[in-house]
Amino acid sequence: MEKDCLFCKIINGEIPTEFLHKDDTIVVFRDIYPQAPVHLLIVPTTHIRSVNDLTDANRPILSEMMMTAKEMAKKEGVSASGYRVFVNVEKGGGQVIFHLHMHLVGGWK
Ligand SMILES: [Zn+2]
Repeated sequence: MEKDCLFCKIINGEIPTEFLHKDDTIVVFRDIYPQAPVHLLIVPTTHIRSVNDLTDANRPILSEMMMTAKEMAKKEGVSASGYRVFVNVEKGGGQVIFHLHMHLVGGWK
C-alpha cells in the first residue's frame, strides 16, 4: 500500500467504490471518466507503479489480470462484439494513476 495512491485507497476501502470483482489479487471497478459504453479498470491489489516496475515475481498477477479481463468482458456482454484491453505506461504513454492497471473498453454500436 502506498499512502498517497488513489487506487490503494480504493482497494483498502478508504474511498467507497463499487467493485465488479474483488479477490486477493485483483479488483475491478468502472473508470469514472469512461471512454466507451463499457470501461473497466482491472487493478492488482499489490501496489506496482507501472509495467516498468514489474518483476519476475509479478508474473502470476499479470496472468490473473488478463484472465479477469476475459471474464469481465463476458459478464459485461461485450465478448462477442469485441473489446480492447490495454495498459498505459508512464506519462508519455498516457498513464494518469501510477498504480498498474489494465483498461477494458467496449460496447460500441
Ligand atoms: Zn497503489
